[in-house]
Amino acid sequence: MRDQICPNYDVCKLVTTEGFSGNEVRRQAYLTDFCHASESKWSNCSRYVTKKALNFCPDFVLPDTAMTLDEIIDKFDELNQ
Ligand code: SF4
Repeated sequence: MRDQICPNYDVCKLVTTEGFSGNEVRRQAYLTDFCHASESKWSNCSRYVTKKALNFCPDFVLPDTAMTLDEIIDKFDELNQ
């Protein structure tokens, strides 16, 4: 059902870009475990949480990335200096 799918589904690069997470099997597992799962799952996806807070999500953030928002911002700044 569409209401079970993450609201970012149509624009999230993990969904729209094959091999985005570097491994297609892993990407499919993320789709099943987060993107197509219930709100309790996708609302805890690190990409969802990051986009909600910052209005964008760097490519290095994956659904199970265990970094704080501050750490994500610091890494993004480091990569873009
Ligand atoms: S990776 Fe996360 S933010 Fe992107 S569509 Fe899946 S659940 Fe949503």
